[in-house]
This record gives sequence, structure tokens and C-alpha cells, in this order.
Amino acid sequence: MTTTSITREYRWEMGHALWFHQGKCYHPHGHNYRMEIEVSGLVDDKTGMVLDFSKLDDWADPLIAEVFDHKFLMNDADERHHGGNLHPDFDVTTCPFEPTAERLAWMFWDIWEECREEVHAFDGMTLERITIYETDKASATVRRS
Ligand SMILES: [Zn+2]
Repeated sequence: MTTTSITREYRWEMGHALWFHQGKCYHPHGHNYRMEIEVSGLVDDKTGMVLDFSKLDDWADPLIAEVFDHKFLMNDADERHHGGNLHPDFDVTTCPFEPTAERLAWMFWDIWEECREEVHAFDGMTLERITIYETDKASATVRRS
């Protein structure tokens, strides 16, 4: 049996600001994010598939819609959102790290690993790689080593 991997791509728009950045990324700005998720497994004899792509969508689409798309991500440590400085309508999501492409890739990886036991569609699947593109030229990848 040969293990085969499949890759699915997702896109969303999101703002962020990097509290510890020494350059222009310190300031609020946004990206057209793109994510590739690569999953491996055995090809099913009957379906000819490792996994129906829609099963990945069932996991990723609601997560992206609820947590990331058209949100503004800031580090918990970022003092600029403390003390009610921002209007409550400004939909800020905070995270315990700098919201870089690297840490977003880790975040998706951790969420996958935490929920994989509940998502039986992923039985027998191995998460191989997550790549987050902030721009066409800049990306971060976490992969199983
Ligand atoms: Zn940025």
C-alpha cells in the first residue's frame, strides 16, 4: 500500500499587528491569507480517494469563518488593545502569541491535533504540512518531521 497525500487550499482576509515587530508590521495592517493543508493516508480501493476534500472543508471552513476571516488578530501582550482603547464594535481576537504566519500555522496544527480524535472523518489520516501565506512571496510552513 502506498501512502498518498492530498492538499487543499483556503483563503481569507484578516488584519493583525505585531507588538514586538521593529518595523512597519508593528502597525495595524491586513493580508489576503492563503493556507495549504496537506494530509496523507491510504487511497481507498472503492472511492479512489485518500479523503473527500469536502471533509477538510467541513473542518476548516467554519473555523476560518468564526475565528479568522475579517477579524483583527492581536497578541494578548499587545498593550494597544488594553484599557478599552478600541471601540467594542472593532472585532479583535487576541491570542497568546504574536500573530505571525509561523504562529498561525502552529495554531491550525494544534487545533487539528486536538480535534482529530473527535473528527472521525480523519481516522487513518496524518497531517503532514500546513503552510500559511501572508503574501505571494512570504509564507511559513510547519510539517511533520
Ligand atoms: Zn502582516
